[in-house]
Amino acid sequence: MAKSKDPRTIAARKGIAADTSFGAVAPPIHLSTTYVFPEFAQAGAHDYSRTSNPTRSLLADTLADLEGGEGAVVTSSGMAAVDLAMSQLRCFDLLIAPHDCYGGTHRLLSARRDMKHFDVLFVDQGNPEQLEEAFAASPTMIFIETPSNPLMRVVDIRAIAERAKRAGARVAVDNTFLSPALQRPLSLGADYVIHSTTKYLNGHSDVVGGAVVCAKKSEAEIFSGWANVIGTTGSAFDAYLTLRGIRTLFPRIAQQQQSALAIAKHLERCPAVERVHYPGLPSHGGHAIAKAQQSGFGAMLSFELAGGEDAARRFVENIRIFTLAESLGGVESLVAHPATMTHAGMDPDARAAAGITDGLLRLSIGLEAEEDLMEDLDTALAASRPARPLRKKRA
Ligand SMILES: *Cc1c(COP(=O)(O)O)cnc(C)c1O
Repeated sequence: MAKSKDPRTIAARKGIAADTSFGAVAPPIHLSTTYVFPEFAQAGAHDYSRTSNPTRSLLADTLADLEGGEGAVVTSSGMAAVDLAMSQLRCFDLLIAPHDCYGGTHRLLSARRDMKHFDVLFVDQGNPEQLEEAFAASPTMIFIETPSNPLMRVVDIRAIAERAKRAGARVAVDNTFLSPALQRPLSLGADYVIHSTTKYLNGHSDVVGGAVVCAKKSEAEIFSGWANVIGTTGSAFDAYLTLRGIRTLFPRIAQQQQSALAIAKHLERCPAVERVHYPGLPSHGGHAIAKAQQSGFGAMLSFELAGGEDAARRFVENIRIFTLAESLGGVESLVAHPATMTHAGMDPDARAAAGITDGLLRLSIGLEAEEDLMEDLDTALAASRPARPLRKKRA
Protein backbone atom coordinates (compact mmCIF):
# COMPACT_ATOMS: atom_id res chain seq x y z
CA MET A 1 0.00 0.00 0.00
CA ALA A 2 1.20 3.49 -0.82
CA LYS A 3 1.98 5.33 2.43
CA SER A 4 -0.45 8.08 3.39
CA LYS A 5 0.01 10.37 6.36
CA ASP A 6 -3.68 11.28 6.42
CA PRO A 7 -4.98 9.88 9.73
CA ARG A 8 -8.30 8.91 8.11
CA THR A 9 -6.48 6.65 5.67
CA ILE A 10 -4.24 5.27 8.41
CA ALA A 11 -7.29 4.45 10.56
CA ALA A 12 -9.10 2.68 7.72
CA ARG A 13 -6.14 0.87 6.13
CA LYS A 14 -3.32 0.17 8.58
CA GLY A 15 -2.50 -3.56 8.34
CA ILE A 16 -5.03 -4.17 5.56
CA ALA A 17 -3.92 -6.63 2.85
CA ALA A 18 -0.51 -7.00 4.51
CA ASP A 19 -0.75 -10.72 5.34
CA THR A 20 2.01 -12.60 3.55
CA SER A 21 0.85 -16.10 4.56
CA PHE A 22 -2.60 -16.25 2.94
CA GLY A 23 -3.24 -12.80 1.50
CA ALA A 24 -5.89 -12.08 4.14
CA VAL A 25 -7.32 -8.58 3.65
CA ALA A 26 -8.35 -8.15 7.30
CA PRO A 27 -5.23 -8.42 9.47
CA PRO A 28 -5.24 -11.82 11.19
CA ILE A 29 -5.20 -12.28 14.97
CA HIS A 30 -2.20 -14.05 16.51
CA LEU A 31 -3.17 -15.70 19.78
CA SER A 32 -0.02 -17.82 20.17
CA THR A 33 1.79 -17.03 23.41
CA THR A 34 5.13 -18.29 22.15
CA TYR A 35 7.12 -18.14 18.89
CA VAL A 36 9.66 -20.38 17.18
CA PHE A 37 13.36 -19.59 17.53
CA PRO A 38 14.54 -19.96 13.91
CA GLU A 39 18.00 -20.97 15.10
CA PHE A 40 19.94 -21.80 18.24
CA ALA A 41 20.25 -18.64 20.41
CA GLN A 42 18.44 -16.67 17.73
CA ALA A 43 14.98 -15.24 18.47
CA GLY A 44 12.69 -14.14 15.64
CA ALA A 45 10.69 -10.90 15.55
CA HIS A 46 8.60 -12.17 18.48
CA ASP A 47 9.42 -14.75 21.12
CA TYR A 48 6.82 -14.45 23.91
CA SER A 49 3.51 -12.55 23.82
CA ARG A 50 3.91 -10.62 27.08
CA THR A 51 6.99 -9.06 25.52
CA SER A 52 5.62 -8.60 22.01
CA ASN A 53 2.85 -9.96 19.83
CA PRO A 54 2.17 -9.31 16.12
CA THR A 55 -1.46 -8.22 16.63
CA ARG A 56 -0.59 -5.93 19.53
CA SER A 57 2.38 -4.50 17.60
CA LEU A 58 0.05 -3.63 14.71
CA LEU A 59 -2.22 -1.75 17.12
CA ALA A 60 0.78 0.06 18.67
CA ASP A 61 2.05 1.09 15.22
CA THR A 62 -1.45 2.27 14.23
CA LEU A 63 -1.79 4.40 17.37
CA ALA A 64 1.72 5.85 16.91
CA ASP A 65 0.85 6.79 13.29
CA LEU A 66 -2.51 8.30 14.28
CA GLU A 67 -0.94 10.44 17.02
CA GLY A 68 2.15 11.30 14.98
CA GLY A 69 4.51 9.57 17.43
CA GLU A 70 7.57 7.39 16.87
CA GLY A 71 6.35 4.51 19.02
CA ALA A 72 3.59 3.26 21.30
CA VAL A 73 2.99 0.69 24.01
CA VAL A 74 -0.39 -1.03 24.24
CA THR A 75 -1.48 -1.81 27.80
CA SER A 76 -4.23 -3.86 29.44
CA SER A 77 -6.20 -0.77 30.53
CA GLY A 78 -6.16 3.00 30.48
CA MET A 79 -5.05 2.99 34.11
CA ALA A 80 -2.09 0.75 33.24
CA ALA A 81 -1.18 3.33 30.57
CA VAL A 82 -1.33 6.22 33.06
CA ASP A 83 0.84 4.25 35.48
CA LEU A 84 3.30 3.33 32.72
CA ALA A 85 3.71 6.96 31.66
CA MET A 86 4.63 7.83 35.30
CA SER A 87 6.76 4.71 35.83
CA GLN A 88 10.11 6.38 35.32
CA LEU A 89 9.54 9.01 38.03
CA ARG A 90 11.64 8.66 41.23
CA CYS A 91 10.96 9.49 44.87
CA PHE A 92 12.45 12.99 44.55
CA ASP A 93 10.49 13.83 41.37
CA LEU A 94 7.42 16.08 41.29
CA LEU A 95 4.43 15.50 39.02
CA ILE A 96 1.87 18.26 38.38
CA ALA A 97 -1.62 16.89 37.71
CA PRO A 98 -5.05 18.51 37.18
CA HIS A 99 -7.21 18.80 40.32
CA ASP A 100 -10.15 17.55 38.25
CA CYS A 101 -8.47 14.62 36.45
CA TYR A 102 -10.22 11.29 35.87
CA GLY A 103 -11.15 9.74 39.23
CA GLY A 104 -9.08 6.58 38.72
CA THR A 105 -6.06 8.70 37.81
CA HIS A 106 -6.56 10.84 40.92
CA ARG A 107 -6.68 7.67 43.06
CA LEU A 108 -3.58 6.19 41.41
CA LEU A 109 -1.47 9.35 41.65
CA SER A 110 -2.54 9.96 45.26
CA ALA A 111 -1.57 6.40 46.17
CA ARG A 112 1.83 6.69 44.46
CA ARG A 113 2.39 9.96 46.35
CA ASP A 114 1.35 8.42 49.69
CA MET A 115 3.71 5.48 49.08
CA LYS A 116 6.45 8.04 48.33
CA HIS A 117 7.06 6.68 44.84
CA PHE A 118 7.00 10.30 43.64
CA ASP A 119 5.44 13.60 44.70
CA VAL A 120 2.25 14.99 43.17
CA LEU A 121 0.78 18.48 43.14
CA PHE A 122 -2.85 18.73 42.03
CA VAL A 123 -3.57 22.17 40.56
CA ASP A 124 -6.21 23.97 38.54
CA GLN A 125 -4.30 24.14 35.26
CA GLY A 126 -6.71 26.75 33.94
CA ASN A 127 -5.52 29.13 36.68
CA PRO A 128 -2.28 30.87 35.57
CA GLU A 129 -1.14 31.76 39.14
CA GLN A 130 -1.60 28.20 40.40
CA LEU A 131 0.21 26.87 37.36
CA GLU A 132 3.11 29.30 37.77
CA GLU A 133 3.42 28.39 41.45
CA ALA A 134 3.53 24.71 40.51
CA PHE A 135 6.24 25.30 37.88
CA ALA A 136 8.25 27.20 40.51
CA ALA A 137 8.47 23.91 42.45
CA SER A 138 10.60 22.38 39.61
CA PRO A 139 8.35 19.56 38.37
CA THR A 140 9.77 16.61 36.45
CA MET A 141 6.52 16.02 34.59
CA ILE A 142 3.19 17.67 33.97
CA PHE A 143 0.11 15.62 33.27
CA ILE A 144 -2.72 17.27 31.30
CA GLU A 145 -6.27 16.08 30.66
CA THR A 146 -8.35 18.20 28.29
CA PRO A 147 -11.32 18.40 27.99
CA SER A 148 -11.85 17.44 31.63
CA ASN A 149 -14.44 15.09 33.06
CA PRO A 150 -17.32 15.84 33.61
CA LEU A 151 -17.29 19.65 33.20
CA MET A 152 -15.42 19.65 29.89
CA ARG A 153 -12.94 22.30 31.01
CA VAL A 154 -10.30 22.99 28.36
CA VAL A 155 -6.66 23.98 28.88
CA ASP A 156 -4.10 25.21 26.36
CA ILE A 157 -1.77 22.27 25.67
CA ARG A 158 0.73 24.28 23.59
CA ALA A 159 1.07 27.05 26.20
CA ILE A 160 1.54 24.58 29.07
CA ALA A 161 3.97 22.47 27.02
CA GLU A 162 6.07 25.54 26.19
CA ARG A 163 6.17 26.52 29.86
CA ALA A 164 7.09 22.92 30.78
CA LYS A 165 9.94 22.87 28.24
CA ARG A 166 11.43 25.99 29.87
CA ALA A 167 11.16 24.24 33.25
CA GLY A 168 12.77 21.08 31.81
CA ALA A 169 9.61 19.04 32.53
CA ARG A 170 8.10 16.27 30.41
CA VAL A 171 4.50 16.65 29.21
CA ALA A 172 1.94 13.81 29.19
CA VAL A 173 -1.59 14.34 27.85
CA ASP A 174 -4.56 12.05 28.44
CA ASN A 175 -6.31 12.28 25.05
CA THR A 176 -9.10 9.80 25.83
CA PHE A 177 -12.01 12.25 25.55
CA LEU A 178 -11.20 13.32 21.98
CA SER A 179 -9.03 10.60 20.40
CA PRO A 180 -6.42 11.42 17.72
CA ALA A 181 -9.30 12.10 15.33
CA LEU A 182 -9.94 15.43 17.10
CA GLN A 183 -6.76 16.31 19.01
CA ARG A 184 -3.08 15.49 18.47
CA PRO A 185 -1.15 16.56 21.58
CA LEU A 186 2.30 15.57 20.23
CA SER A 187 1.90 18.20 17.50
CA LEU A 188 1.23 20.74 20.28
CA GLY A 189 4.47 19.93 22.12
CA ALA A 190 3.57 16.97 24.35
CA ASP A 191 6.09 14.14 24.89
CA TYR A 192 3.54 11.39 25.61
CA VAL A 193 -0.10 10.76 24.81
CA ILE A 194 -2.09 8.48 27.08
CA HIS A 195 -5.27 6.69 26.01
CA SER A 196 -7.95 4.60 27.54
CA THR A 197 -8.63 2.76 24.26
CA THR A 198 -11.72 1.45 26.09
CA LYS A 199 -13.46 4.63 24.96
CA TYR A 200 -13.49 6.17 21.45
CA LEU A 201 -10.63 4.19 19.90
CA ASN A 202 -12.28 0.80 20.37
CA GLY A 203 -15.66 2.51 20.45
CA HIS A 204 -17.90 -0.53 20.95
CA SER A 205 -17.88 -0.92 24.75
CA ASP A 206 -16.39 -4.42 24.60
CA VAL A 207 -12.68 -3.93 25.36
CA VAL A 208 -10.80 -2.45 28.33
CA GLY A 209 -7.42 -1.28 27.08
CA GLY A 210 -4.90 1.54 27.03
CA ALA A 211 -1.84 2.94 25.32
CA VAL A 212 1.07 5.32 25.74
CA VAL A 213 2.25 6.97 22.53
CA CYS A 214 5.67 8.65 22.58
CA ALA A 215 7.13 11.44 20.48
CA LYS A 216 10.54 9.69 20.70
CA LYS A 217 11.27 6.09 19.78
CA SER A 218 13.87 5.76 22.55
CA GLU A 219 11.24 6.59 25.18
CA ALA A 220 8.71 4.18 23.68
CA GLU A 221 11.38 1.49 24.02
CA ILE A 222 11.90 2.29 27.71
CA PHE A 223 8.13 2.11 28.39
CA SER A 224 7.82 -1.03 26.29
CA GLY A 225 10.59 -2.67 28.32
CA TRP A 226 8.96 -1.71 31.62
CA ALA A 227 5.48 -2.88 30.49
CA ASN A 228 7.10 -6.26 29.79
CA VAL A 229 8.84 -6.27 33.21
CA ILE A 230 5.60 -5.67 35.12
CA GLY A 231 3.42 -7.56 32.64
CA THR A 232 0.79 -4.90 31.89
CA THR A 233 0.83 -5.29 28.11
CA GLY A 234 -2.55 -5.79 26.43
CA SER A 235 -3.92 -9.06 25.07
CA ALA A 236 -3.91 -10.01 21.38
CA PHE A 237 -7.67 -10.44 21.33
CA ASP A 238 -8.24 -6.96 22.75
CA ALA A 239 -5.76 -5.54 20.23
CA TYR A 240 -7.63 -7.25 17.39
CA LEU A 241 -10.98 -5.79 18.48
CA THR A 242 -9.49 -2.34 19.04
CA LEU A 243 -7.96 -2.34 15.54
CA ARG A 244 -11.36 -3.25 14.18
CA GLY A 245 -12.92 -0.36 16.12
CA ILE A 246 -10.31 2.14 14.93
CA ARG A 247 -11.17 1.54 11.26
CA THR A 248 -14.45 3.42 11.81
CA LEU A 249 -13.12 5.98 14.34
CA PHE A 250 -13.40 9.00 12.06
CA PRO A 251 -16.96 8.51 10.73
CA ARG A 252 -18.15 7.48 14.20
CA ILE A 253 -16.84 10.54 15.96
CA ALA A 254 -17.89 12.88 13.13
CA GLN A 255 -21.49 11.70 13.41
CA GLN A 256 -21.42 11.64 17.21
CA GLN A 257 -20.10 15.17 17.56
CA GLN A 258 -22.62 16.50 15.05
CA SER A 259 -25.43 15.14 17.23
CA ALA A 260 -23.65 16.37 20.39
CA LEU A 261 -23.54 19.96 19.11
CA ALA A 262 -27.22 19.89 18.13
CA ILE A 263 -28.13 18.43 21.53
CA ALA A 264 -25.98 20.96 23.43
CA LYS A 265 -27.66 23.85 21.59
CA HIS A 266 -31.07 22.35 22.25
CA LEU A 267 -30.39 21.84 25.97
CA GLU A 268 -29.19 25.42 26.28
CA ARG A 269 -32.69 26.55 25.29
CA CYS A 270 -34.52 24.27 27.77
CA PRO A 271 -35.91 25.99 30.88
CA ALA A 272 -35.32 22.89 33.06
CA VAL A 273 -31.59 23.13 32.27
CA GLU A 274 -29.51 25.59 34.24
CA ARG A 275 -26.18 25.21 32.41
CA VAL A 276 -24.69 23.23 29.56
CA HIS A 277 -21.00 22.31 29.45
CA TYR A 278 -19.90 21.68 25.86
CA PRO A 279 -16.75 23.23 24.34
CA GLY A 280 -18.57 23.66 21.02
CA LEU A 281 -20.88 26.29 22.52
CA PRO A 282 -19.64 29.90 22.32
CA SER A 283 -20.91 30.27 25.94
CA HIS A 284 -18.32 27.68 27.11
CA GLY A 285 -15.26 29.15 28.85
CA GLY A 286 -12.84 27.02 26.83
CA HIS A 287 -14.51 27.52 23.44
CA ALA A 288 -11.71 29.62 21.89
CA ILE A 289 -8.89 27.29 23.01
CA ALA A 290 -10.88 24.22 21.95
CA LYS A 291 -11.47 25.78 18.53
CA ALA A 292 -7.75 26.44 18.13
CA GLN A 293 -6.27 23.17 19.40
CA GLN A 294 -8.96 20.62 18.51
CA SER A 295 -10.25 19.66 15.07
CA GLY A 296 -13.72 19.08 16.52
CA PHE A 297 -15.55 19.59 19.81
CA GLY A 298 -16.19 15.91 20.56
CA ALA A 299 -19.28 14.03 21.65
CA MET A 300 -19.15 14.41 25.44
CA LEU A 301 -21.21 17.02 27.25
CA SER A 302 -22.74 17.63 30.64
CA PHE A 303 -25.58 19.79 31.91
CA GLU A 304 -27.07 20.91 35.20
CA LEU A 305 -30.72 20.51 36.00
CA ALA A 306 -32.26 23.39 37.92
CA GLY A 307 -34.04 20.90 40.22
CA GLY A 308 -30.89 19.27 41.67
CA GLU A 309 -30.71 15.58 42.60
CA ASP A 310 -34.48 15.01 42.57
CA ALA A 311 -34.69 16.30 39.04
CA ALA A 312 -31.70 14.16 38.01
CA ARG A 313 -33.38 11.08 39.47
CA ARG A 314 -36.66 11.76 37.63
CA PHE A 315 -34.72 12.46 34.41
CA VAL A 316 -32.87 9.16 34.61
CA GLU A 317 -36.04 7.23 35.51
CA ASN A 318 -37.74 8.56 32.40
CA ILE A 319 -35.02 8.29 29.79
CA ARG A 320 -35.56 5.42 27.32
CA ILE A 321 -32.86 5.42 24.64
CA PHE A 322 -29.87 6.67 26.65
CA THR A 323 -28.54 3.99 29.01
CA LEU A 324 -27.66 4.82 32.62
CA ALA A 325 -24.05 3.64 32.75
CA GLU A 326 -20.47 4.79 33.30
CA SER A 327 -17.83 4.87 30.54
CA LEU A 328 -18.11 6.70 27.23
CA GLY A 329 -17.14 6.76 23.59
CA GLY A 330 -19.23 3.80 22.41
CA VAL A 331 -21.78 3.61 19.60
CA GLU A 332 -24.58 3.69 22.19
CA SER A 333 -25.59 6.88 24.00
CA LEU A 334 -25.02 6.84 27.75
CA VAL A 335 -26.07 9.08 30.60
CA ALA A 336 -24.21 9.22 33.91
CA HIS A 337 -24.95 11.04 37.17
CA PRO A 338 -21.41 11.92 38.33
CA ALA A 339 -22.36 12.64 41.98
CA THR A 340 -23.65 9.09 42.54
CA MET A 341 -21.59 7.24 39.90
CA THR A 342 -18.19 8.29 38.48
CA HIS A 343 -17.47 10.84 41.24
CA ALA A 344 -19.26 9.15 44.18
CA GLY A 345 -15.88 8.42 45.79
CA MET A 346 -15.16 12.13 46.22
CA ASP A 347 -16.45 13.67 49.45
CA PRO A 348 -19.34 16.13 48.93
CA ASP A 349 -17.21 19.19 49.76
CA ALA A 350 -14.54 18.22 47.23
CA ARG A 351 -17.28 17.60 44.65
CA ALA A 352 -18.78 21.01 45.31
CA ALA A 353 -15.33 22.62 45.05
CA ALA A 354 -14.82 20.89 41.71
CA GLY A 355 -18.20 22.24 40.52
CA ILE A 356 -19.91 18.84 40.34
CA THR A 357 -23.44 19.55 41.53
CA ASP A 358 -26.11 16.98 42.43
CA GLY A 359 -28.14 18.07 39.40
CA LEU A 360 -25.28 17.45 36.96
CA LEU A 361 -25.72 14.79 34.26
CA ARG A 362 -23.08 13.69 31.73
CA LEU A 363 -23.92 12.46 28.25
CA SER A 364 -21.83 10.35 25.87
CA ILE A 365 -23.51 10.76 22.49
CA GLY A 366 -23.69 7.64 20.33
CA LEU A 367 -24.79 6.83 16.82
CA GLU A 368 -28.57 6.67 17.23
CA ALA A 369 -30.71 9.02 15.10
CA GLU A 370 -30.32 12.56 16.38
CA GLU A 371 -34.11 13.05 16.30
CA ASP A 372 -34.62 10.02 18.57
CA LEU A 373 -32.04 11.30 21.04
CA MET A 374 -33.63 14.76 21.12
CA GLU A 375 -37.09 13.34 21.67
CA ASP A 376 -35.80 11.07 24.43
CA LEU A 377 -34.11 14.00 26.17
CA ASP A 378 -37.21 16.18 25.88
CA THR A 379 -39.42 13.50 27.43
CA ALA A 380 -37.00 12.96 30.32
CA LEU A 381 -36.56 16.72 30.81
CA ALA A 382 -40.31 17.24 30.99
CA ALA A 383 -40.53 14.43 33.54
CA SER A 384 -37.62 15.87 35.54
CA ARG A 385 -39.71 18.84 36.63
CA PRO A 386 -41.73 18.41 39.81
CA ALA A 387 -45.38 17.44 39.33
CA ARG A 388 -46.52 20.62 41.12
CA PRO A 389 -44.55 23.83 40.94
CA LEU A 390 -42.31 24.13 43.98
CA ARG A 391 -43.58 26.64 46.51
CA LYS A 392 -41.50 28.18 49.19
CA LYS A 393 -42.41 26.67 52.54
CA ARG A 394 -43.96 29.11 54.94
CA ALA A 395 -42.02 29.74 58.10
C1 LIG B 1 -11.66 5.68 31.35
C2 LIG B 1 -10.57 6.66 31.50
C3 LIG B 1 -9.33 6.29 32.03
C4 LIG B 1 -9.05 4.89 32.56
O1 LIG B 1 -9.12 3.94 31.56
P1 LIG B 1 -9.53 2.40 31.79
O2 LIG B 1 -9.44 1.83 30.43
O3 LIG B 1 -10.90 2.39 32.40
O4 LIG B 1 -8.52 1.82 32.74
C5 LIG B 1 -8.33 7.25 32.08
N1 LIG B 1 -8.54 8.52 31.66
C6 LIG B 1 -9.74 8.92 31.17
C7 LIG B 1 -9.92 10.32 30.73
C8 LIG B 1 -10.79 8.00 31.06
O5 LIG B 1 -11.97 8.41 30.59
